[in-house]
Amino acid sequence: MPFPLNDRLGRTHRSLRISIIDKCDLRCTYCMPEDQRFLQREELMTREEIATITRLFVQRYGITKVRLTGGEPLVRPDAVGIVRDLSGLGVSLGLTTNALSLHKHLDALIEAGLRSINISLDTFDAERFKQIARRDGFGTVWANIRSAMSRGLRVKVNMVVMRGVNDDEILRFMELTREHPVHVRFIEFMPFAGNHWGRDRVYTFAEMLGHIGSVHSFEKLNDDPHSTAKAYRVPGWPGTFAVISTVTEPFCGDCDRIRLTAEGRMRNCLFAREETDLLSALRRGEDIAPLIEANVIAKHAMLGGLPQFRPERQEEVLHDLSARPMVSIGG
Ligand code: SAM
Ligand code: SF4
Repeated sequence: MPFPLNDRLGRTHRSLRISIIDKCDLRCTYCMPEDQRFLQREELMTREEIATITRLFVQRYGITKVRLTGGEPLVRPDAVGIVRDLSGLGVSLGLTTNALSLHKHLDALIEAGLRSINISLDTFDAERFKQIARRDGFGTVWANIRSAMSRGLRVKVNMVVMRGVNDDEILRFMELTREHPVHVRFIEFMPFAGNHWGRDRVYTFAEMLGHIGSVHSFEKLNDDPHSTAKAYRVPGWPGTFAVISTVTEPFCGDCDRIRLTAEGRMRNCLFAREETDLLSALRRGEDIAPLIEANVIAKHAMLGGLPQFRPERQEEVLHDLSARPMVSIGG
């Protein structure tokens, strides 16, 4: 029987996000600062170390869901091998990608056991894509999203909605759910180091639903108890959509997630300011189980201990953020 990985509030953790690399082939303004410095290769967990640590989480602590992320996971040359290793562990395995190089790896990823993929796309306008991602690539990403759908992968499309940047495209993204059996997730813009966040740039989930509701009637779907998203659909359409309201309505109460950065540091929350270095201990031949358990016990009730993201507390939030940008945490 696995030992449940409980925090001091009794929340059991069954979901693990692993960043396998901190580098990326895009540079989204909301995720990566201009002057981002990257880890050296020897600082990254090796493929074998990722498998060893994940196996421990699965076999000893009953982790049932694993998502690979980054940075951009497909930038890592052994990404497909890592998928193959982890798909053999009997967990629900997913990958979050910007899909810029997906065409090079799609067949191999499916062959390695990947069945579910989250793809980030914030705009259907090629020029706007360049401004948001600071790189060209809309045509390739969109073609790759269509390929992933046509190959039968479960596809979720993540759109970070930013006021005055792309909030005018929400209805265009809704059309995806009319045309395809895809799940579109509208994400509130979250604060991370160096991402020019401001509370006034957050297009709130209430605004998203109001905007969609002014054009379409939609119905609520049942949410998984640990889901970070509130799911809906327009009746009769093959796709579904969800809103992720981290900023205006955090969902920490049922949180079951923990994270591992690309250099093997464990974080008990996306917004955590403390980390536990599992990789160094593993490389010294030490037992990392006590470190894992202590990290989870220390989890804060909400938002890694950050003040709530209310407009009047913006300065406090910005002051208290962890030193890491999103690209090096792993979303
Ligand atoms: N490179 C991959 C990608 O873009 O999908 C994986 C890593 S990325 C950090 C994971 C997810 O985090 C993406 O869907 C991205 O849109 C989201 N993300 C990054 N910064 C964010 C922010 N400030 N607010 C909300 N979501 C963010
Ligand atoms: Fe790269 Fe993904 Fe961050 Fe964009 S959101 S910079 S694609 S890691």
